[in-house]
Amino acid sequence: MSKLIYLDNAATTKTAPEVVEAMLPYFSEHYGNPSSIYGFAAANKDVITKSREEIASVIGAQSNEIYFTAGGSEADNWALKATVEAYGKKGKHIITSKIEHHAILHTCEYLQQQGVEVTYLDVDENGVVDLEQLKASIREDTILISIMYANNEIGTIQPIREIGKIAHEHGILFHTDAVQAFGQIPIDVNECHIDMLSSSGHKLNGPKGIGFLYIRKGVKIRSFIHGGAQERKRRAGTENVPGIVGFGAAAERAENTMQERMEKETELRDYLIARIEKEIPYCRLNGDRTKRLPNNVNFSFRFVEGESLLIMLDMKGICASSGSACTSGSLDPSHVLLAIGLPHEIAHGSLRMTLSEETTKEDLDYVVESLKEIVGTLRKMSPLYEDFIKKQNK
Ligand SMILES: *Cc1c(COP(=O)(O)O)cnc(C)c1O
Repeated sequence: MSKLIYLDNAATTKTAPEVVEAMLPYFSEHYGNPSSIYGFAAANKDVITKSREEIASVIGAQSNEIYFTAGGSEADNWALKATVEAYGKKGKHIITSKIEHHAILHTCEYLQQQGVEVTYLDVDENGVVDLEQLKASIREDTILISIMYANNEIGTIQPIREIGKIAHEHGILFHTDAVQAFGQIPIDVNECHIDMLSSSGHKLNGPKGIGFLYIRKGVKIRSFIHGGAQERKRRAGTENVPGIVGFGAAAERAENTMQERMEKETELRDYLIARIEKEIPYCRLNGDRTKRLPNNVNFSFRFVEGESLLIMLDMKGICASSGSACTSGSLDPSHVLLAIGLPHEIAHGSLRMTLSEETTKEDLDYVVESLKEIVGTLRKMSPLYEDFIKKQNK
């Protein structure tokens, strides 16, 4: 079995060859610690600055507003915990949504144990937050609104500009987890009134273990890791120079190819959605049809178990992911699919396929043919499906 069709780009992406190439010298020849005085090492300061500039330009920020972290999870933790520390005197209320990544939700749960109050906004059946509910949730003591830019499971893009406007009209800080959006769709932190933004290298063909938190100038956020003076004393630790160089190269590459990639992926995404809807009965597209990441396809198939689907797709060389969270040792289906109102049994039959710039129409034709066969096989084994068909034929 040599065929491999990788449709799990929301989980991670292939590091682009030119990114690897840009990184390599920083493991070997240029291994110096950027904090050292002698020229051999201090030159590495300049490459860090260059990466910071490349990244800042993608979101309309200034380079000194970009703080490197060890990934998206760290950036999310930092934004929430340090805001509570710095603004705790003003209040202890945070507003977020029910469909955030666990890096946000579990941090919120932790903060609740520390006495912080958290409002979790509902989303509609397409996964969009309700702006009226957001406004109604704002209190005197609200210090932060944290809403993800685009959802990692169902691809829904939030009305970020409107949310940012509401936050600023009320003098509340606005953070967005943009891990799925950065480098995939255009972002402007000024137009959208974003005060903090999290991102991660490995979701845009960069290396794993490197991310950043954008912190708007003037936001009083505390340092997250205490130690040396790196990252303007806000995040100590010897810089991950190869990671930073790779992230910079990936960001530059993503910016240059964004328009073309968006068009190509959107076309293929809609082709895949249309074929599945036409050729496989009793399925439901999850997420908003248009306010959607260009590479995200998420379906629920009735009378099918997501895990069985994944295993059988794997046998055909297709890598995808399921909405149900059995992999994490829990029998509950994904919190995102429940939040959009899917009943448990339908959420359990969910499949996420996230395309890349390398995905071809031929790949998707093979995927649809495989899916038709697998869904058919699994339904044949389902007593629920048998009953359902009997009732239909009455
Ligand atoms: C992947 C992801 C994260 C976590 O990023 P890491 O770099 O893997 O820690 C956070 N939020 C979202 C929306 C993600 O997709």
